[in-house]
Amino acid sequence: MKVVVIGAGYAGTIAANRLVKKADADVTVVNPRPGFVERVRLHEHIAGSGSAVTPLTEMLDPRIRLVVGTVDKIGDGTLLLADGTSLPFDRAIYAAGGAPTAPSGTHVVGTLETAEEAHRALAALSDGAAVTVVGGGLTGIETAAEVAEARPALRVRLLSEGEVGASLGPGARARVRRELDRLGVAVERGRYDGAGDADLVLWAVATQVSDLAARSGLEVDDAGRMVVDEFLRSVSDPRIVAVGDGAAVPGARLSCQTALPQGAHGADNLARELAGKQAKAFSMGYTGQNVSIGRRSAVIQAARRDDTPTRIQFGGRSAALVKEQVCRMAKGAAKTARYAWLPAPR
Ligand SMILES: Cc1cc2nc3c(=O)[nH]c(=O)nc-3n(C[C@H](O)[C@H](O)[C@H](O)COP(=O)(O)OP(=O)(O)OC[C@H]3O[C@@H](n4cnc5c(N)ncnc54)[C@H](O)[C@@H]3O)c2cc1C
Repeated sequence: MKVVVIGAGYAGTIAANRLVKKADADVTVVNPRPGFVERVRLHEHIAGSGSAVTPLTEMLDPRIRLVVGTVDKIGDGTLLLADGTSLPFDRAIYAAGGAPTAPSGTHVVGTLETAEEAHRALAALSDGAAVTVVGGGLTGIETAAEVAEARPALRVRLLSEGEVGASLGPGARARVRRELDRLGVAVERGRYDGAGDADLVLWAVATQVSDLAARSGLEVDDAGRMVVDEFLRSVSDPRIVAVGDGAAVPGARLSCQTALPQGAHGADNLARELAGKQAKAFSMGYTGQNVSIGRRSAVIQAARRDDTPTRIQFGGRSAALVKEQVCRMAKGAAKTARYAWLPAPR
């Protein structure tokens, strides 16, 4: 069976590696670049405090064929690539993930290429220059804190329309505010309406996903995510399994905590199909959220399996160690394909 995986992020990489381990399938991965990008480290990449790229040859099982290219359209059993070539498939795993865009004049945090531009722009700023980070979600908090810690002589502002850290519980939210204060980050509520006096604007609203499924005429939700059944199969074409940020799975939060189990489960279902077994419905529960605050601190928020925050939260150096371990574990899981997760609450 020819299986083509579209995208080698967390979801696509674990899916491809798990499938070749569990089944005798001919697996090809298509990705626009030869590197695996740890998106969860792109704020480190921007600030120059860490690196986010590992060669895919080190991440993918040697039995997997890697095609460096971009899928332009998903057709009837065929992928059309931007270079004009095509790849036939019996089954496809759609893992094209996030594709954040931003107003002109700003730098998107969430993709490698734009993070590299942002890194160069940040490095060129003189002390005293002003940086605005737009977005009060976890990505915005991490980016503002990382920049403020790496370049304490810059003036860093975090601009958010809604409450900063709204997905956290009140204790963790207050802790984040104290940590941002400690690093000298000015927090402002409001909508972005131009750079104003900022010398650099970093766009940390990372909710948009690839429009490939929509462009290909497959059913998508309002945000462009591929609509799937309980087995993660496209409702338009059951030969396609969708996983990660680009899959419309009810109750799923955009995170590698979601992308990894979905990628693993999608591969497991294809392996079951090859073995003549029934597919299983996808089910997962959450454990919490981790927000890095520079390299020496973090905030950890525990959650119930339905992803609502509990009263348990902590911060400081021990939290930074936990957060670092979580990032390493996520990359390691994508590479080894070993991953276990909790089921959804009843
Ligand atoms: C700065 C930052 C910090 C974050 N921190 C956390 C965190 O702490 N914890 C957490 O759980 N989540 C975090 N996230 C979110 C997390 O990174 C994403 O949810 C996760 O990367 C989703 O994985 P994915 O495999 O679905 O998609 P992605 O990681 O986006 O991978 C998709 C891959 O598909 C490729 N692709 C796209 N289009 C095509 C195409 N047409 N053809 C071929 N390939 C294509 C892309 O180039 C990419 O390689 C963070 C995100 C950012 C930006």
